[in-house]
Amino acid sequence: MTDFPGRADVVFVGAGHNALVAAAYLLEAGRSVCLLDRMDQPGGWVRTAELGAPGFLHDPWSALHPLFVGGPVWSELGPQLSRHGLEYVIAPVATGSSLPDGRTAVAAVDPQTFAGELARLGESAGWNDLFAAVAPYLEPVFGLLGAGLDTAGAQAKLASLIRDSRGSALPFGRLLSGSARDLVTGCFRTEELRCLAAPWPLHLGAGPEDPAGALWTVLVLATLAAGNPAPVGGSGRLADALVALVAERGGAVFCGADVEEIVVRDGRAAGVRTADGRTVTADEAVVVSAGPDQLYGRLLRDAPGVPAAVRTQARGFRYRRGCFQLNLAPSARPRFRDSRLDAGGGINLGRGLTALVTSVRQAEAGLLPQYPSIAWHEPTAVDPSRAPEGRAVVRLQVLDVPLRPTGDAAGTRYGAGGWDAATGEAFADRVLSEAEPHAPGLTGLVLERHITTPADLARLSPNAGPGDHASGENSLTQAFLQRPIPAHAGGYRAAVPGVWLIGASTWPGAGVNGVSGRAVARSLIG
Ligand SMILES: Cc1cc2nc3c(=O)[nH]c(=O)nc-3n(C[C@H](O)[C@H](O)[C@H](O)COP(=O)(O)OP(=O)(O)OC[C@H]3O[C@@H](n4cnc5c(N)ncnc54)[C@H](O)[C@@H]3O)c2cc1C
Repeated sequence: MTDFPGRADVVFVGAGHNALVAAAYLLEAGRSVCLLDRMDQPGGWVRTAELGAPGFLHDPWSALHPLFVGGPVWSELGPQLSRHGLEYVIAPVATGSSLPDGRTAVAAVDPQTFAGELARLGESAGWNDLFAAVAPYLEPVFGLLGAGLDTAGAQAKLASLIRDSRGSALPFGRLLSGSARDLVTGCFRTEELRCLAAPWPLHLGAGPEDPAGALWTVLVLATLAAGNPAPVGGSGRLADALVALVAERGGAVFCGADVEEIVVRDGRAAGVRTADGRTVTADEAVVVSAGPDQLYGRLLRDAPGVPAAVRTQARGFRYRRGCFQLNLAPSARPRFRDSRLDAGGGINLGRGLTALVTSVRQAEAGLLPQYPSIAWHEPTAVDPSRAPEGRAVVRLQVLDVPLRPTGDAAGTRYGAGGWDAATGEAFADRVLSEAEPHAPGLTGLVLERHITTPADLARLSPNAGPGDHASGENSLTQAFLQRPIPAHAGGYRAAVPGVWLIGASTWPGAGVNGVSGRAVARSLIG
């Protein structure tokens, strides 16, 4: 019971990558920090592990880090993190699409190769016109991604983006309120290119028909122009390097510590109390990596001074879709019908745009989708250290699944009882059979498969709510100034002074990006 330091300037509830990033900056500025996490290791959803046979290094959760490498934290902390062993590898292909009949689109990192692909598809004009239209928005919007939106300056910038672009071919307001489906059907002619682009907002928490999906699509594609990096050795190497940096700077990280309550004294945060009764005093701030539902429904449930409307907003925080993941250990590298897709990156497999829209609708209606779409990532394409020689690891991520299934759009008996083991296995079979036409022979190569259902995610962390990898819907209703709840106005200050909320539920949303951790550290450092 005496493990914890009695006090720290800043106490963190959760030691995910955002918290570790914030801690690294705060320590450099001379603050003391203490991070408490209920999991058995720090890093949150950033981890790499052998899930079965030795030598197969899987990313059970996050894998690709384009937002982190393209963002401010990597440019500022990169040298220190590299010193602690973090190295990124960028596959020659950033993303692509594959349709069952063999049609593909391949976004190479090399601009000339990609220009050739657009020409082959007859999409040069569509792509170039889109990026010419959005070019004036990219710099200001990427600037807004780096800090909270609850300042007059940020809100003025957003307002001027909307106001000043009203006369343009693609006004910013349309991008902000439009869907990915409308964007890609309006701009691209081919199913191949539409299917390369439209699934990406799902990774950030927005479906293909959701408002804000158009902007998320453009921002992801702009980010992926620099490639789709993954840490050499696996996603967890980022967590390892951050933990090493925090330790080197004198920070304290404790796992197996479930924080039950934020202690509030004289109207402001004074520390935390864990479920097993240990306490740490916070002299300056308590920084929480969670959703607003946990923040106000658990950690501040008895705190005086929280307006009833804020509690109501927090209870209304919405999770819309789940995440199902299959981590495969194949006996050899699988091969796509189009060998260009064997080069790595994040590849979208599916039956087309209408099928994607349909499967998302089925998922949101509580049904296992009949034809799930798949985000494919084979790290061993560019990082042989991830598997024994000649073998491979592959992550198949499915983001059009129900949080709590009540049935099956394909009409089987599965799903009626939620994500029970039989449903997980049957759905894994379905995902593999959907992948098979794209990479023929895949199923026969699989030595081991490890299934993660939304129910597993919910059990692992409250930040997934009922099983959402994106920590809450991120369409317009719950994005920008409404993230995570309108009362926070896209910022990180909670309703109790001295409490800050960071992480995927906050602006700009899900993803390994480190943005909210850095932003809060900068606010505290002043
Ligand atoms: C299956 C899956 C796949 C993903 N794939 C990708 C990907 O490829 N690329 C990408 O960019 N993003 C991906 N993401 C999203 C990304 O991983 C997350 O958005 C990001 O890691 C969130 O980081 P965080 O630091 O904000 O919080 P988290 O990683 O959620 O960490 C928060 C920590 O807080 C702890 N915590 C919460 N409440 C308490 C409490 N009361 N007491 C103590 N500790 C507490 C939790 O245990 C957790 O460790 C994926 C997510 C999942 C789940």
